[in-house]
Amino acid sequence: MNEYTRVENVPDYFGCNVFNEDTMRETLPKNAYKALVNTQKMGTALESSVADVIAASMKDWAVQRGVTHFTHWFHPLTGFSAEKHDSFISPTTDGKVIMEFSGKELIKGEPDASSFPSGGLRATFEARGYTAWDPTSPAFIKDNTLYIPTAFCSYTGEILDKKTPLLRSMEVLSEQAVRVLKLFGSTATRVTTTVGPEQEYFLVDKKLYDQRKDLIFTGRTLFGAKAPRGQELDDHYYGNIKDRIHDYMTDLDKELWKLGILAKTEHNEVAPAQHELAPIFTTSNVAADQNALMMEIMKKVALKHGLVCLLHEKPFAGVNGSGKHNNWSMSTNEGENLLDPGDSPRENIQFLTILVAIVKAVDEYADLLRLSVASAGNDHRLGANEAPPAIISIFMGDELQTILDALESGKMIKPNEGQEFVIDVEALPNFPKDNTDRNRTSPFAFTGNKFEFRSLGSADTISCTNTILNTIVANSLREFADKLEGSKHFKKDLNALLVETLKAHKRVIFNGNGYDAAWVEEAARRGLPNYISTVDAMPHYTDEKNVKLFESFNVYSKKELESRTEALLDNYSKVINIEARTMLDIAKKQILPTGIRYAGELARSINEKKAAGLDASLEGRLATKVTELNISLSDAIDKLDNEVINAADVNGTVETARYFRDVVFSSMQCMRSFADELEMKVPEDMWPFPTYGDLMFRV
Ligand code: ADP
Ligand code: MG
Repeated sequence: MNEYTRVENVPDYFGCNVFNEDTMRETLPKNAYKALVNTQKMGTALESSVADVIAASMKDWAVQRGVTHFTHWFHPLTGFSAEKHDSFISPTTDGKVIMEFSGKELIKGEPDASSFPSGGLRATFEARGYTAWDPTSPAFIKDNTLYIPTAFCSYTGEILDKKTPLLRSMEVLSEQAVRVLKLFGSTATRVTTTVGPEQEYFLVDKKLYDQRKDLIFTGRTLFGAKAPRGQELDDHYYGNIKDRIHDYMTDLDKELWKLGILAKTEHNEVAPAQHELAPIFTTSNVAADQNALMMEIMKKVALKHGLVCLLHEKPFAGVNGSGKHNNWSMSTNEGENLLDPGDSPRENIQFLTILVAIVKAVDEYADLLRLSVASAGNDHRLGANEAPPAIISIFMGDELQTILDALESGKMIKPNEGQEFVIDVEALPNFPKDNTDRNRTSPFAFTGNKFEFRSLGSADTISCTNTILNTIVANSLREFADKLEGSKHFKKDLNALLVETLKAHKRVIFNGNGYDAAWVEEAARRGLPNYISTVDAMPHYTDEKNVKLFESFNVYSKKELESRTEALLDNYSKVINIEARTMLDIAKKQILPTGIRYAGELARSINEKKAAGLDASLEGRLATKVTELNISLSDAIDKLDNEVINAADVNGTVETARYFRDVVFSSMQCMRSFADELEMKVPEDMWPFPTYGDLMFRV
């Protein structure tokens, strides 16, 4: 335990680096504070005169804390966050400076956008873009800089980032949900989506990390024979946390708390050296910003402890990779969680309506949910029996399923109390309060009062997934509201609508084992899509039904969807290209020379032994095997080398990505197998870099 955990009071420093509600109440004039809170709570626009006042207060608050610069912090399509720092200094006539920050600077920034991917959206002559403050996500201080969370657009109005569509999707979901709630007599005027992202990660020793070019260049190991021990003893999951890791977690919590991030749960995960950190849920856009920030801080704090935090989805072959569980729900401005079954019949039937709307959304747009989690890194996990399959399905749990079945069939059911109910909208049994049956193999599981989407990759932003989730649910709710508003026989019509919707979409519900091979066949029979890789999934972004969906809500235009597909697939190809080139580098400069050196050593030993009249057959066998592996490896190097060069001749973004997947990636696998076999033959002290055993067990 670090000494400060004993002497410092968390509530005293929680959020001390955030321009949060408390700070605003203290520093802002009343009317400015009110205007800003209104913007945050109700999404109303901010006037420029108010912005000036807020900017000045923000600057004073920051300058008192030693801050000299500000930055508009945004999330371009690269998946990383971006920032350009400007100082507050402004020259005065007497040759001195003052610290200044205007409302205009707060609200809008103009970074040169030409080097950010746009997926062909902008002609090069129109490279300018601008960033716009998202006042619903609080500004914060990091490294003597004031960070202002912003959205990023081009001057022609196209969105170039991941935040803008998320904000739009939250807005459309709110509108449609409010319409539906009204039908049940609710007076709510706004619905907010909430997310609690559980983050998995690995920690390795920095000194070992520095000796592995694959980790340095790609974030994952590209070579490595299995260690004698993996995760088979299941002893790491929730196991004792080592002192060094505990110190890291303590320090990390403190840094996150200062930034107002509600870091809550920390534990060891399944694989050796793997851990998890879960914050308490918050509004989607804030959760997305905080998750991005959290990932950054996780890496930074690790370095202070002589560790490296690996956020890659699959740092090590043979043990579990890392994901991110997106716990998602919706709540009203009156504090009602729409996925909480509730106690009264009104709450129950409203819950059931929302639930059926989600079933419809997930079935109709399973392709979008799937592609929202697609990346080169996550391709290693989905469907590999450590993470949910690539097939999107919903887990309801037995109790909820019984209720849905009864609703659909109109039949009597006997709940536990022995009382009989006819399930329709007029009579509902009490709902299960806590759904403790956690099916870990399901991608999209109901977990009591929220849905947990478990397919996300650990390194990815949660923005894209939540943009899609919000939009597809908004779509179901819009259809429901269109049908039910003005209905003369509300209960009858609602009942009919729910039954009909359930019948049409229940194929997406699967309560069984998602890792079972039989499920793949069953899902195919049900007609559910199974997009194995990023290359299979991504092009569906621009399917006609999906373009229609996004355009109808003004979340994305067709052009923006095309540009996103382009940028994501292009990124995929680049990632594989870097991995292939890193492998070639390591194989040519480190592994093959080691193999050759060892074969030479064996040959000398054979000669010496023969000269001494000794039996050299063992060395002979080993030398033959090592030489064979060297030759296979060398051939694999030549093959991969050519394939990487030939990639330039492939035309088209999809075709190039497919080439990298089908040709380059499979050759990488093949090359690795020779190298890993060689590793098991070569003496430990000759192997050129730390092994899996070193990396995973010497932390
Ligand atoms: P588990 O590891 O069993 O999946 P955790 O307790 O670690 O569960 O994580 C659950 C996550 O779900 C937490 O981040 C929690 O804040 C979040 N959560 C709880 N309620 C909601 C909600 N209404 N909306 C969104 N997220 C929620
Ligand atoms: Mg979870």
